Amino acid sequence: MSSQSPTSETIRTQCAIVGGGPAGMMLGFLLARAGIDVVVLEKHADFLRDFRGDTIHPSTLQVMHELGLLAEFLKRPHNEVRELDAQFGDQRMAIADFTHLPTVCKFVAFMPQWDFLNFVAEHGTRYPGFHLMMETEGIDLIDENGRVVGVRARHHDRALEIRADLVVGTDGRHSTMRARAGFQVMDIGAPMDVLWMSISRRPSDPPQTLGRIDAGQFLVMLDRGNYWQCAFVIRKGSFAEIQQRGIEAFQADLARLVPYLGDRVREIGDWKKISLLSVAVDRLRVWYCPGLLCIGDSAHAMSPIGGVGINLAIQDAIAAANILASHLREGPVGVDAVREVQTRREFPTRMTQGLQVFVQNKFVSRVLGSHERLPLPFFLKLVRRSVILRRLFARVVGMGFRPEHIHTPEMPIARTSKKSEPRDGSGPLAVH
Ligand SMILES: Cc1cc2nc3c(=O)[nH]c(=O)nc-3n(C[C@H](O)[C@H](O)[C@H](O)COP(=O)(O)OP(=O)(O)OC[C@H]3O[C@@H](n4cnc5c(N)ncnc54)[C@H](O)[C@@H]3O)c2cc1C
Repeated sequence: MSSQSPTSETIRTQCAIVGGGPAGMMLGFLLARAGIDVVVLEKHADFLRDFRGDTIHPSTLQVMHELGLLAEFLKRPHNEVRELDAQFGDQRMAIADFTHLPTVCKFVAFMPQWDFLNFVAEHGTRYPGFHLMMETEGIDLIDENGRVVGVRARHHDRALEIRADLVVGTDGRHSTMRARAGFQVMDIGAPMDVLWMSISRRPSDPPQTLGRIDAGQFLVMLDRGNYWQCAFVIRKGSFAEIQQRGIEAFQADLARLVPYLGDRVREIGDWKKISLLSVAVDRLRVWYCPGLLCIGDSAHAMSPIGGVGINLAIQDAIAAANILASHLREGPVGVDAVREVQTRREFPTRMTQGLQVFVQNKFVSRVLGSHERLPLPFFLKLVRRSVILRRLFARVVGMGFRPEHIHTPEMPIARTSKKSEPRDGSGPLAVH
């Protein structure tokens, strides 16, 4: 944390949110909707990054329904998946059945995450207190007398000081905010990394199967209309080994795993077409200090197992808005209020990470460590036979533990302009 003040421009807000991912955008939207002035900082120029995952869960769709936005949201291009399939060797099987969930939408909506974030941003700008600053990176915390009172940020070569009654770190798994606060991180670990690539899709291709698993290999394919977004799961640290075998050997592995792709595997013509995504699973011991709270991946980096990290990040944001909106109305937020957010969200986080680690250790590690086709694991045999287990799995993935609901009110919209003046008149506020 830093306590000097070398900034050229000061912005005053009630809540500074660092990171415009699912957690930060949802929190910013909900607080602005409740009449709180928020500044959301996002270091990139847009939301068009490929590594974010595409899943909008039934619990998030339920929240859209509670906000009165569901019908409009579902007009955006998406795929509705009511049952998740996996292919283990040559056996294809259903592993989750969403059709019996007690939610309005009994499906997972697959939608590129940038569409989801753009939707939230567009709706945020309806509220006068919502200020989204793109290309603005939070670089340090401002500490005064043992309390975080703001964030130092950079917008191109402009230095900014954003003073706030509360700072929320939503800057993901490599969070600068949690590092600057010196929060202690428990590294839970993950045995895998992911190779991320796209291959064109043909109308004649079969419908989406979530996972394809065979001797030593594990591939997840997401249907993005005219292409498949592919996540090839590899042993942690083994990318160099795979590269040494050559791109043709890698193409042959893909073609063996998904025969209908045929020649299309040659679209992955060199390693530049593949991004290596490092998987981390960790959790902060304490998510807050006076004036600062971390939520989403910055408080607990999630494994891609089950595709639930986005859901958890959004649920954290809803809980935080429910607990903090009334405190923010009164000024600087006390430690008891931010502690309440951790208390509320720690149980679902621990349960979800516990399940992810179980699957990583009992299943993913075994698959990735084997050179032969493995027999169907015992728990998958149970899932294949039991309708109840498939519904239970759908509930865990689709709704998570302790689903949150919107309790923040919508304050009347005073004006519709996207531009707004800083609350203390200390300098121009860039609003995008
Ligand atoms: C390979 C992989 C695949 C995954 N697939 C899925 C999936 O299909 N479904 C699912 O639910 N989950 C998935 N996850 C997990 C999911 O991506 C995360 O749990 C989720 O994105 C967390 O949301 P967040 O808002 O907390 O953080 P993020 O989504 O990481 O958002 C953080 C944001 O902060 C911005 N930022 C970072 N630092 C700063 C800074 N200093 N200043 C300003 N802005 C900053 C970043 O640009 C980013 O926009 C996957 C994870 C991995 C690794």
